[in-house]
Amino acid sequence: MSRSLQAKIADVFNEPGCDKNAAKGEKERKKGCSKPLTPGAAAGGCAFDGAKIALQPITDVVHLVHGPLACEGNGWDNRHAASSGPMVYRTGFTTDLAEMDIIMGSGEKRLYRAIREAVARHDPPAVFVYATCVPALIGDDIEAVCRHASEKLGVPCIPVNAPGFVGSKNLGNKLAGEALLDHVIGTMEPEFTTPTDINILGEYNLSGELWQVRPLFERLGIRLHACVTGDARYREVASAHRARVNMMVCSTALINIARKMEERYGIPYFEGSFYGIEDTSTALRTTAALLVRRGAPAELIDRTEALIGAEEARAWARIAPYRRSLEGKRVLLYTGGVKSWSIVSALMEIGMEIVSTSTRKSTREDKERIKEIMKTDAHMVDSIPPREMYAKLRNGEADIMLSGGRTQFTALKAKTPWLDINQERHVAYAGYDGMVNLVAELARALDNPVWREVRRPAPWDVPASAAGGSSLAAPVAAAAARA
Ligand code: SF4
Repeated sequence: MSRSLQAKIADVFNEPGCDKNAAKGEKERKKGCSKPLTPGAAAGGCAFDGAKIALQPITDVVHLVHGPLACEGNGWDNRHAASSGPMVYRTGFTTDLAEMDIIMGSGEKRLYRAIREAVARHDPPAVFVYATCVPALIGDDIEAVCRHASEKLGVPCIPVNAPGFVGSKNLGNKLAGEALLDHVIGTMEPEFTTPTDINILGEYNLSGELWQVRPLFERLGIRLHACVTGDARYREVASAHRARVNMMVCSTALINIARKMEERYGIPYFEGSFYGIEDTSTALRTTAALLVRRGAPAELIDRTEALIGAEEARAWARIAPYRRSLEGKRVLLYTGGVKSWSIVSALMEIGMEIVSTSTRKSTREDKERIKEIMKTDAHMVDSIPPREMYAKLRNGEADIMLSGGRTQFTALKAKTPWLDINQERHVAYAGYDGMVNLVAELARALDNPVWREVRRPAPWDVPASAAGGSSLAAPVAAAAARA
């Protein structure tokens, strides 16, 4: 691993804004947070994957992966980050390194040629170049190639130095944040500024969630200057340093950007969520209050309260028809990070009962929030082995499971309704409209008649007398006896 990358990782681990670090001493902090990686550890996403996830939603740039084809192929477009315009971000660009490049040491030349070709064909405002394990191990200097290409081609080439082997997906998110801080944010000036410009950090516009909250800000006259990185354009991110307030949506991912922007440009930040009615209202209130503190007109507070009142009433009226299906239903929530508390609070708002919520990838602060919301930590679990999870569902301990796609089959095998709550989902759940969507999807999953059908005994298991003489059990038994 190069010295500069080692120093960058040490710096990320030393992040004072991270709440885990706050509880550690200087020496312990420098050791870092990663557990030693074991074979297969990257199955949940390597550092490169994390960096790509965090930056790919910048829609008008070329995202070029320097490495073997599979690195790009494995993770391409698995998140449905939506764009309202440019589509170049959805094209997979890779240098497709092969054995001969490794033997001949021609990786850097191949990378330069790939950048040149991508610029000639697509004329992007920037090229993001991602390092992966193979070029990092053979010593390709992507930073030098990017510098050279930027000078020669006149297009900013941004090195994203987060090869998979350095650690987890979360570390990759932070290294992506460092690439933005080092090479992008503060490099351009906006065409104009207003006293109500804000940035949202850590929101990726999955299934169009940003579009559920952007209109709320617009109605208040708050300008969303840059979303880092959902549906973003390069210029917006490059001039994000002129915003008045930063809202951080996913605490663990881009805390380094929020903290360093406060340090470098004096932009205050707060952490919030757009999942649930109450949290959406709190996010709007906090944004307005911080903007007023930084010079926006004081009447913004009253207008925000008026909008919150109207939107909450409208959302509750739309949710009312679903209450009968949802109230008192028990949920097993198997997600992590910020969703472990934001979804809990959203579900409790509509009267559902949380059987347990997993706190994998959750920070200490996330766990504190769960305790605060649920008034106990009894429902927090770290990870549940599939066999245990199956037993829980099979024994009817929950009426529905909310999780990512990988655990859906455990629920389906246990004949339990399941709803996708992770990044691969196709329905947007943010803001007031998102909450109505979530409620509708939950009701649809719970009331689906398929559960009644699959839970009934199979026709050949029903004794003939119980089935009014029409059971298949008798003919099947007779056939078996004849055989
Ligand atoms: S960067 Fe490394 S760990 Fe990640 S997909 Fe490529 S080879 Fe695998």
